[in-house]
Amino acid sequence: MKRQKILVIEDEPDILEVIEYNLARDGFRVVTARDGDAGLRLARAELPDAVVLDLMLPGIDGLEICRRLRADDVTRTLPIVMVTAKGEEADIVVGLGIGADDYLTKPFSPRELVARVRAVLRRAQPQAARTGDDRLEFAGLVIDRARHEVLVRGDPVTFTPTELRLLHFLGAHPGRVLTRDQLLSRAIGEHAVVLDRNIDVHVRSIRKKLGAERERLETVRGVGYRFRDDQD
Ligand code: CA
Repeated sequence: MKRQKILVIEDEPDILEVIEYNLARDGFRVVTARDGDAGLRLARAELPDAVVLDLMLPGIDGLEICRRLRADDVTRTLPIVMVTAKGEEADIVVGLGIGADDYLTKPFSPRELVARVRAVLRRAQPQAARTGDDRLEFAGLVIDRARHEVLVRGDPVTFTPTELRLLHFLGAHPGRVLTRDQLLSRAIGEHAVVLDRNIDVHVRSIRKKLGAERERLETVRGVGYRFRDDQD
């Protein structure tokens, strides 16, 4: 089971340290940012599983970050837990309205924070991923990385190792737009099986092999690709 990665955007060093320590102790990988610009950059570059977002930040504030994360196809479905100071109730309402998943009011207990993060992760977890990291099951499509097997409407179809990695990576992030760079570095980069680093060529081939399920791989013009889950 891979460790989930949490991005924490918080400018107060003491609070940041407490959050980071407690998430790490609970088994999460943690990346941190002290201001909005760095936070937005890391959200795109690191593909975290969730974000803990302080509202009052220097530069771009938390609400604007939330807005931008939701407007960006790469981070659109990223779970967000807002952290607010007392007296920011109006901001909480706005934040939830623009897509934050939950919030905590300072001061909060570290246990409470970890519990909230776990809750948004559970809610965000795609149905398919619950059957295990290696095997993803969708209606009409099974992607099994460990057994190197893809079933399209019950029929086994042969995929190259690179194609299988790409398809599995896309399928593990349903609904999220992944850029070509992300697909290269995350799905292919760490493995030496790359024959052709042109993602589009691989995707074309994958689509062909998916046959009746080809619509699952959606092209997002100028950005990359998105795997469509059944709820889409
Ligand atoms: Ca702050």
